[in-house]
Amino acid sequence: MGKAEITEREEIYDALIVGAGPAGVSCAVWLANLGLRPVLFDAAPYVGGLCHGNPFPDPWTVLLPGADGNAVAGQLARSVAAAGVELRLETRVDRIDRCATLDGNPSADMKRDARPDALPGGGARAQQGCFAVSGKGWEPVRGHTVVLATGVRARGWQLGVGADGGTAVPGIIVGPGGAVARQEYEGRHVAILGGGDNAFENALYVAQRGAASVTIYARNVRAQRQLRDQVPPQWLCRGPYTVEPSGLSVNGRRYDLILVFYGWEPVLDPLGGLALRLDSGGFVSTDRYTAESSVDGVYAIGELTRRQHPCVLTAMADGVVAAKAVQARLERRGT
Ligand SMILES: Cc1cc2nc3c(=O)[nH]c(=O)nc-3n(C[C@H](O)[C@H](O)[C@H](O)COP(=O)(O)OP(=O)(O)OC[C@H]3O[C@@H](n4cnc5c(N)ncnc54)[C@H](O)[C@@H]3O)c2cc1C
Repeated sequence: MGKAEITEREEIYDALIVGAGPAGVSCAVWLANLGLRPVLFDAAPYVGGLCHGNPFPDPWTVLLPGADGNAVAGQLARSVAAAGVELRLETRVDRIDRCATLDGNPSADMKRDARPDALPGGGARAQQGCFAVSGKGWEPVRGHTVVLATGVRARGWQLGVGADGGTAVPGIIVGPGGAVARQEYEGRHVAILGGGDNAFENALYVAQRGAASVTIYARNVRAQRQLRDQVPPQWLCRGPYTVEPSGLSVNGRRYDLILVFYGWEPVLDPLGGLALRLDSGGFVSTDRYTAESSVDGVYAIGELTRRQHPCVLTAMADGVVAAKAVQARLERRGT
């Protein structure tokens, strides 16, 4: 092996994986086991994505009976360590760019190739070059491929920090998970915003935890019957409503807590340098058989893509699909 090849091997990873939730971890572990060299980034100080901090039982991840979300996250972290995957936590990727040379400068043809209308698997595409990921406070890192696994965040996050991240507006919690579980409910009046499964499930949870009253505000009710049937009709306030966040009031009535369940939106923050094709819901469009996006060499997996049912297992299955596609791609290129 010549000097230039050694340098390239040292400096360019086989895959830059953004997001260490179930999808990113699965992809990274498979790639490492296949003898390739991935590097796994996460903005958070932990592995596990949405599973981390979720204290609720997870009967759906069938290989881990009795586990809760936290236990699933712990197993994911152990798998990363066991496979020897290079892991960079607290490393938010702010930008992803194509680059053609070892100095990391994007070339004109690489930029042209990343066009939004390119179909997965179709069109004439550049078969060379690499990608660079970058962020604040760390040196850009380069790789032959990118795997996006940034997941989703709770809608309405502008009101407060979603999922497990606590709350920015005191008294308002956005999204389900650890922040909801950590809250005290005894004797408190709680408003729930949203009409889906999460809203109804958490209304029941809050009532079990001793709330003095629970009111669900829902423009439309979409929750499954199994949950709807358990909620007393007097809890439900159906139709339009207005929220005054700083006064913690809904329709002019003041609450001790407001819990917001407006569904999820894909996390697309680092995609400024790539024009990826999105579907009508704003999720990344991918090829079903390879998980490749509309940009050659960029794969998207897990909740960032539209799933019939997003969960730990479907996210992990996507990771496997992308890993095998990355392996096939690199073997084709002789990288
Ligand atoms: C309360 C709750 C309970 C759930 N219960 C279950 C259950 O019982 N069973 C089940 O199967 N599923 C459950 N789920 C769903 C499951 O957690 C998700 O489907 C799964 O975590 C999705 O995996 P993912 O890898 O696609 O994304 P995520 O888990 O969302 O991981 C994405 C990761 O990307 C990171 N990231 C985002 N942007 C950047 C960036 N710019 N740079 C670096 N890193 C970034 C995030 O920090 C995060 O760690 C639950 C979800 C919630 C919220």
